[in-house]
Amino acid sequence: MKQVIFCDFDGTITNQDNIVNLFKHFDPPGWEALKDDILARRISIRQGVGQMFSLLSTAKKEEIVRYAVDQAEIRPGFEDFIRFCRANDIRLLITSGGIDFFVYPILTRFAIPAEDIFCNGSDFSGETIRIVWPHPCDEHCDGDCGMCKTSVIRSYDEKEYERIVIGDSITDLAAAKLADFTIARDFLLEQCRKQGLNHQPFDTFYDVIEILSHHRGHGRCKQFDTTGTS
Ligand SMILES: [Mg+2]
Ligand SMILES: [Zn+2]
Repeated sequence: MKQVIFCDFDGTITNQDNIVNLFKHFDPPGWEALKDDILARRISIRQGVGQMFSLLSTAKKEEIVRYAVDQAEIRPGFEDFIRFCRANDIRLLITSGGIDFFVYPILTRFAIPAEDIFCNGSDFSGETIRIVWPHPCDEHCDGDCGMCKTSVIRSYDEKEYERIVIGDSITDLAAAKLADFTIARDFLLEQCRKQGLNHQPFDTFYDVIEILSHHRGHGRCKQFDTTGTS
């Protein structure tokens, strides 16, 4: 069976969450309340992220883009991981709730075709930043995700592909539940343990390579790791 990986960006490929770092730095009034509303699920990710960016003036475009790109640190092993996927014929897609103006520039030094990167868009033509959503939820998702990871996963037939998710946060949980196998850190890891999802923990992409090397050939083994599922 073919393998396809859906790899998160913020907090997965990069060490930290780029959107949070950006807002911490520019600190427009009201952003933290919106962030809390998103985390408490009082508003959807699409609404919350859209409103947060509408607090930023497009007059600062250059400064905002430069800061977002410069502050990002790539998790160790990512470049080797891309090579590993290519060598093993694993389809690698980047599925990010991030925004085009930092996702593409940060990834530009890696050999990933633009069409394999799924993220949100941005429009700087007005007074404040407007986020646009080229990858909305399909008819099976009512999450109002913005960039809908489960919709992207569903576009890969489960009979044809083993679908693997790599991620770190709440925004990856629905994807992890749909996937055959998840490689997780941080909040997502806790949830995978709690909910008994088929998963392995990772810290760097060297770990991911190691996990996938052993995972290959086992095929679909949904009961792979059921430790700590209390
Ligand atoms: Mg993330
Ligand atoms: Zn959705």
